[in-house]
Amino acid sequence: MTDSKLSEEKISDTTDEAVADAPAEDELPLSFCHACMTPFEDYYYLGEKYGFTLVGCLKCGSAVADPYPNPEFMEKFHEKYNEKLVPPSNAEREAKRHEKRIRSLMELTKGKDFLGVGCGFGYSVIAAASLDLEASGIDTREQPIKAAKKSLSKDHFTQTTLEKYAKKGEQADIVYIEHGLEQSIDPNAFIEALKKVLKPGGVVYLETPDGNHFMIPSNFARWKVVAPPAVLHYFSRKGVETLLERHGFKVEKFFFNFRPRMRLIAKAASKKADKKADKK
Ligand SMILES: [Zn+2]
Repeated sequence: MTDSKLSEEKISDTTDEAVADAPAEDELPLSFCHACMTPFEDYYYLGEKYGFTLVGCLKCGSAVADPYPNPEFMEKFHEKYNEKLVPPSNAEREAKRHEKRIRSLMELTKGKDFLGVGCGFGYSVIAAASLDLEASGIDTREQPIKAAKKSLSKDHFTQTTLEKYAKKGEQADIVYIEHGLEQSIDPNAFIEALKKVLKPGGVVYLETPDGNHFMIPSNFARWKVVAPPAVLHYFSRKGVETLLERHGFKVEKFFFNFRPRMRLIAKAASKKADKKADKK
């Protein structure tokens, strides 16, 4: 893309120090749609922010940061970028909100193992534990995980990625994702890890910014959620559905939301082979 390279000028424009160490533009790969895998030879322009261009996929409406950072760039970025999260003002209300949702997920699976992904301060995990689920939570961010360890039990929380967690062979019946997909440098690897982590008959709850929502400002870059490279992906519903389907999931339900935040329930797509293997 000729008009969307990460130029030196753009880098010096930003006040974000972490972005200032961006690799030269020829080190960065061209973007493609991570949802429907369409190469961005053609795309629509959504604006600029923090030295990145935001581009939209013509096929599925998902938006992504361009140029697309490589893992080395993101590693350097996260070394410097220390996101400080503010705990919710009403912790009790927050826990109740999660509790209500988790109860409805419990109706969709018999299993008792709960994993909160991108769980932040751990309210979903606390709510799950209060419902007698075997609850664990992971988050890549140090600060909320430290706080979460103090609030419940340090054994319940781990600072790690879903991909690393999946490699350990841990599994859950309810995987409750509040954050992670939109930050992932490789959403396909993220969803593949989700597949590994989900037990047969399990259910997935997923939240991510809705990049194609009617409430997004007409100037896309002014949407407060837009923060490349910390947030790389702004998927559309169609995009997330395509991504999940490619990895063997079926979206059971999208929740209506007045805010541009996507919330959905998904399960493994049923196959005859799965049914045979499904032992009681
Ligand atoms: Zn797409």
